[in-house]
Amino acid sequence: SQPTPMLQLERLSTHYGAICAVNEVSLHVNQGEIVSLIGANGAGKTSLLMTICGTPRASGGKVTLEGRDITHVPTHEIMRMGLAVSPEGRRVFPQLTVLENLKMGGFFQDKDAIDKGVTHVFELFPRLKDRANQRAGTMSGGEQQMLAIGRALMSEPHLLLLDEPTLGLAPLIIAQIFEIIETVRADGVTVFLVEQNANRALSIADRGYVLENGHLVMEDTGANLLANPDIRKAYLGG
Ligand code: ATP
Repeated sequence: SQPTPMLQLERLSTHYGAICAVNEVSLHVNQGEIVSLIGANGAGKTSLLMTICGTPRASGGKVTLEGRDITHVPTHEIMRMGLAVSPEGRRVFPQLTVLENLKMGGFFQDKDAIDKGVTHVFELFPRLKDRANQRAGTMSGGEQQMLAIGRALMSEPHLLLLDEPTLGLAPLIIAQIFEIIETVRADGVTVFLVEQNANRALSIADRGYVLENGHLVMEDTGANLLANPDIRKAYLGG
């Protein structure tokens, strides 16, 4: 029998009033995988990701995390159940230092757990350690993204959701962020990644899904999607 998926969506839908942003999407992420969701601007990627977190609420369907139904669980509870998210736009606290930002990510935890989390994140990302006392708002976009990921890891999640972590970053920095995502996975964290940068996102993904107008239109291995002529034409510039 198949092991329980880390994450399973069954016919998940999200509406904003009459607008249907996510339309009966079914997908799964297995433990230890990197799975990428690609799609054009406005396809519903962010809505899908945030619905997993319970904000906004699903208008239909089911979300299961490690076998537990979280569809109606409050967002703050979901964040205690092994899920963490690095939202679109990074959203680090610009006036706080790197260290203070990380501690905010551990706000559910006791002091020992926070210290352990900080040590762990600094081991994974020595660059953040070097900048522990720098204000986050003065760091580069790439460094802020690294911090956003580090902060999400403070709760020791089993599953990390990433919303467009490379948006607006320079090519060299983008490569570094994708290396970091692989480091996170090697560290034992399952990754579900939403990206417009389809080429890179599919290159590091075990599997990928394609979202169009709220519908899933394709799923395959990352390698097969990368080689698919339709995908190349629509998302990889031919
Ligand atoms: P992007 O890459 O631009 O963030 P996306 O694929 O993440 O796009 P969403 O942001 O999820 O797409 O948007 C999907 C659809 O839902 C769009 O038509 C958008 O206008 C609509 N939408 C998103 N958020 C809201 C909201 N808070 N209220 C009403 N409509 C919304």
